[in-house]
Amino acid sequence: MSTKKIVGIKHIFFDLDHTLWDFEKNSETVIESMLVTYDVERLYKITSADFIKKYKKINKKLWHLYSHKKITKEELRSTRFTKTLDRLGAKNLELGLLLEREYIAKSPYQTHLLEGTNEILDYLKPKYELHILTNGFKEVQHIKLHESGIKKHFNTIFISEEMGFQKPDKEIFDAAQKVAKVNAEECIMIGDSFENDIQGALKAGWRAVYFSSRKKRVKNENLYQINNFLIRVDCSLNLSALTHFIAQQKI
Ligand SMILES: [Mg+2]
Repeated sequence: MSTKKIVGIKHIFFDLDHTLWDFEKNSETVIESMLVTYDVERLYKITSADFIKKYKKINKKLWHLYSHKKITKEELRSTRFTKTLDRLGAKNLELGLLLEREYIAKSPYQTHLLEGTNEILDYLKPKYELHILTNGFKEVQHIKLHESGIKKHFNTIFISEEMGFQKPDKEIFDAAQKVAKVNAEECIMIGDSFENDIQGALKAGWRAVYFSSRKKRVKNENLYQINNFLIRVDCSLNLSALTHFIAQQKI
């Protein structure tokens, strides 16, 4: 593997959820275990697959509202499980709140990482300053990084809730840059959200790598043309392949 550095890049900012920390797997593990604990399948005739599918849909909508400042963190948390139960015909406020409390307590302690995470961090660490730039809640994101054993790789952990801005706001990229004491052209963002990670970083004058670990198609097939330094790592590739991309300076 080549050991050349990407020309000009000194700082690599990683997104956390769905990019390094396997959000899907960790979240599903906790939900499945809670449904068994509270006997939800037998009591309400809801399979864990149906529950998870509905929960994800509701959670995604609520996160969208939260990120556009339409609801608060507390509203998001107090409604996603109760709404899921409601929609599945199992109205039970008490159980919904219980599931939420347990989910918050347990999910950050899950340690599944996306394939190749440790390899890429080990490879990049001696060559670049690595940072985390994540949209999320402080009490949760710090635990995830610590418990999964990857915190040691990062110089700085930037969490939207602590910074007062969220990706894709330009302000969060500018603020991270200021703390890291770097210029925009020295920064690259790697993340799985086209809107938050890629468009946000590009607006701030950074370079970006769109990493999609999930099997989803991107409508825009011309990412190379948007910016010379933007590449798309396909769903058929994993983080190890991304390491090779960077090592070979295909950016
Ligand atoms: Mg993400």
